[in-house]
Amino acid sequence: MDDLRQNDGVVANVLDGDSPIFDPVDWRLSNFEAALCAETRSLAAGRFAARAPGIDRAARFPTENYADLHANDLMGICIPKHFGGRGADLRAYMLAAAEIGRYCGATALTFNMHVSSCLWTGFLADNLPMSADQRTSHDAMRHRHYHRILKEGAIYAQPFSEGGDAAAGKTAFETTALIVDGGWIINGRKIFASLSGHADYYGVLCTELAAADATPSRANTMYIAIDSRAAGVSVEGEWDPLGMRGTVSRTLVFKDVFVPFEEQLMPRGVYFNAARQWPHMFMTLTPSYMGIAQAAYDFTIRYLRGEQPGTPPVKRRMYATKQLAVAQMKIMLEQTKSLWFQAITEARPNPSKDALMRAWAAQYSVMENANELAQLAVRTCGGQAMLRSLPLERLYRDSRCGALMLPWTAELCTKMLGESLLYETGESDEG
Ligand SMILES: Cc1cc2nc3c(=O)[nH]c(=O)nc-3n(C[C@H](O)[C@H](O)[C@H](O)COP(=O)(O)OP(=O)(O)OC[C@H]3O[C@@H](n4cnc5c(N)ncnc54)[C@H](O)[C@@H]3O)c2cc1C
Repeated sequence: MDDLRQNDGVVANVLDGDSPIFDPVDWRLSNFEAALCAETRSLAAGRFAARAPGIDRAARFPTENYADLHANDLMGICIPKHFGGRGADLRAYMLAAAEIGRYCGATALTFNMHVSSCLWTGFLADNLPMSADQRTSHDAMRHRHYHRILKEGAIYAQPFSEGGDAAAGKTAFETTALIVDGGWIINGRKIFASLSGHADYYGVLCTELAAADATPSRANTMYIAIDSRAAGVSVEGEWDPLGMRGTVSRTLVFKDVFVPFEEQLMPRGVYFNAARQWPHMFMTLTPSYMGIAQAAYDFTIRYLRGEQPGTPPVKRRMYATKQLAVAQMKIMLEQTKSLWFQAITEARPNPSKDALMRAWAAQYSVMENANELAQLAVRTCGGQAMLRSLPLERLYRDSRCGALMLPWTAELCTKMLGESLLYETGESDEG
């Protein structure tokens, strides 16, 4: 990890078009991070940006973007190098993913669901204590999944939301995995399951039961890959949302689905430990919105300079009102970037209380400020800028979705922050 953190030289960062969200020299990125960001930026700007309007309009999955991600060897971005992947750690991935979010929010958000299956089982798991037996079985399990991803271009989804308290980490998942001969029988339903009908495997969080009448416990949370073609797997419901339309987050139903034991993504007990010890893992939903925040700002600058493609070359930059507005946007963008960068830089297992609170503050800031920046962009650029032929209105709609992402919704981040600020562990006002 340390060698990735060194600012090991100046990296050529000038691409045709947009400059990096995080300049490699200013932000002291490693060569590895800078090169990865340049790669994702080039791919997303060159290919995904042009497809984004059609994907959004039709609320369809960005299949062709995934073909590009596979062709460019990025599906294994977070698969450890010794398994044949690119070996990005949490920060390198987050920085590179933000560049994708800048050009297609839905691709970045769905890509995050796929990548989490590798990041959690890769970098995060490698930094968690495990017994030698657990480590051996974990290696065998992940080899299977990584091989599919790297060799077959398999796409993994990450459905955990059920509409109850489980996705917020309060109760056991209602989706159950009953132990039977050679595997489990899975029953349950997952709402807002991005990539439904398009992923090859669903990385499902569920509660293992030794017997049908056993009491479900969060400590028995399992992380299991379910083959989308298995008998008993179905996708239900319409998908016609406000934003992030290309995520195709429909409802997944599992009815008596048999899954062999080899399909675990993490050994028993390890996910539960990861969720407690590695809280920053939930920040992986932010890069898409960090990218959108940057895109809203970029659009405003281009538009006011009369340089936005698809609009007449009319300059509006000479008006003091516009200058004040972009200054306000720049301040908010820099605040958001700085807090986010610090949070993803200091992420580690068992963070200090202060670092954890900073992570909540960063999550809240990215999710809320992306939308605030998009609304400022609409207000500042004006009526001609919010036509559907231009990307701004999509950025505005997509940005609104960030605050809703469990378990760290904007509401829950403020709730956890408020409680943690006023109460130390174990304190209560009773008695
Ligand atoms: C575009 C998009 C893509 C998504 N993709 C995925 C995906 O791939 N996988 C996945 O698992 N989920 C996904 N989600 C789901 C997301 O994480 C939420 O589960 C979903 O938005 C449903 O939330 P809700 O607002 O109906 O939640 P509700 O459960 O109705 O909660 C409403 C709000 O109440 C608050 N709240 C919830 N529980 C508690 C509690 N215990 N205590 C206090 N306050 C609470 C939260 O702030 C929450 O936002 C996606 C959502 C969106 C919008």
